[in-house]
Amino acid sequence: MRSRKTIFEESREGRRAYTLPSLDVPAASPDAVLPPGLIRREAPELPEVSEPDIARHFVNLSVLNHHVDRDLYPLGSCTMKYNPKVGEDVANLRGFSELHPLLPEGLVQGALRLTYELGRTLCEITGMDDVTMVPAAGAHGELTGMLLVRAYHEDRGSRRTKVLIPDSSHGTNPASVEIAGYEAVEIRSDSRGRIDADSLKSHLSEDVAAIMVTNPNTLGLFETEICKIAGLVHDAGGLVYMDGANMNALLGISRPGDFGIDIAHLNLHKTFSTPHGGGGPGSGPLVVKEELTPYLPVPVVGREGDTYRFVYDTPKSIGRIHTFYGNFSVLIKAYCYVLMCGAHGLREAAESAIINANYLLSKLRDGFMVPYDGVCKHEFVLSGKDKLKAGVRTADIAKRLMDYGFHPPTVYFPLIVEEALMIEPTETESRETLDRFAEALGRINAEIEADPEKVKGAPYSTPVRRVDEAMAARKIDVAE
Ligand SMILES: *Cc1c(COP(=O)(O)O)cnc(C)c1O
Repeated sequence: MRSRKTIFEESREGRRAYTLPSLDVPAASPDAVLPPGLIRREAPELPEVSEPDIARHFVNLSVLNHHVDRDLYPLGSCTMKYNPKVGEDVANLRGFSELHPLLPEGLVQGALRLTYELGRTLCEITGMDDVTMVPAAGAHGELTGMLLVRAYHEDRGSRRTKVLIPDSSHGTNPASVEIAGYEAVEIRSDSRGRIDADSLKSHLSEDVAAIMVTNPNTLGLFETEICKIAGLVHDAGGLVYMDGANMNALLGISRPGDFGIDIAHLNLHKTFSTPHGGGGPGSGPLVVKEELTPYLPVPVVGREGDTYRFVYDTPKSIGRIHTFYGNFSVLIKAYCYVLMCGAHGLREAAESAIINANYLLSKLRDGFMVPYDGVCKHEFVLSGKDKLKAGVRTADIAKRLMDYGFHPPTVYFPLIVEEALMIEPTETESRETLDRFAEALGRINAEIEADPEKVKGAPYSTPVRRVDEAMAARKIDVAE
């Protein structure tokens, strides 16, 4: 039998003992556990490679793909490109990385405290009252938020069926709304790229459960009528949900709770420095106003004096939305970033993101159409519509940028801009980098005039040239 380990915990109530299963594996010879035919009698022939050769092999592999440690990654709507190395170091501390989700609360007080304190900090930053740290991504936060909306209305005996969403919204918004069982109703942006409060009125009725707005919106513009919009929706008995993926532009400047938001998700991987996409997993905490607290998913991390615990006894909760408590290692990195920046640093991050975006926009305005011009927030959207007459599409410009050593911006989103190029430099890029990027786009513009075929044939410098995207989508080969 395996040995077991007993751990004692001292607290005010006295001494408690926990018995942990031991991880010691009994040492047995291979002959005792494997069938004879499977046992290797001679050493395998492994390649003999020197340390420099192996290091070069992996370094060269790492640069076959573009990544943030190579150069600018101006993807719009994806926000942060900064993943501080210290965040990784802290998340890898053994006291965190070796935690087991089934450990008793008494042994994970530090982890619970970190989760609790990060949650309270997010409430402070957003001007909200309560939080769940469980959702595993922005889209998961949206779905959780819509389930809260449903629970809130049902608790009041009201059966509402519709959720309003502006036409500039991220694709996950209508998807989350529909998965939660609501009908997504599109509202048109006005000529300024914003929701028009007066035209919103015509959509309001007793059927409307909520509005889901992104602020700043996906055109990189602040919804200037947000207070009026929130007031109108509230007067009609609906709730106001904010997709907070763009919170990076608001940190320390304005708070959703102050402009009438009832529920919002945050993307820790977009606003609080934790890795994105393939570098994930993500985390999409949901902050709420007090009226929504009873419905938050279980467990919630609560605090009593100096003790932290998982709270399950909330009868109106929507229940569980994830195993255990979400992606804890992501919370560690976000906590680390918040402490590293402090209140002043977070505001500075938002201001730098806005200044960088406006600087780059000012350099690109002459060469590209700007469908919704003006002062932007953390990102802006250009249109490549005028390049179509030379036979060049936005996708070609994106591919050509790779030859200049940059990752392409987001293209063809938001859907309301034809041939969209959505550019988001973020706060950590230097003026020199922004200048180089603007210069590359300037050169591509000159190529479109002089030799459009060259742009249409790009990229020339990448290990894989153009792929057949339609076929890749139809005949998925996951083994390759
Ligand atoms: C990224 C994004 C989302 C979805 O977030 P995920 O974490 O990728 O699920 C939703 N809305 C907007 C505006 C976004 O930029």
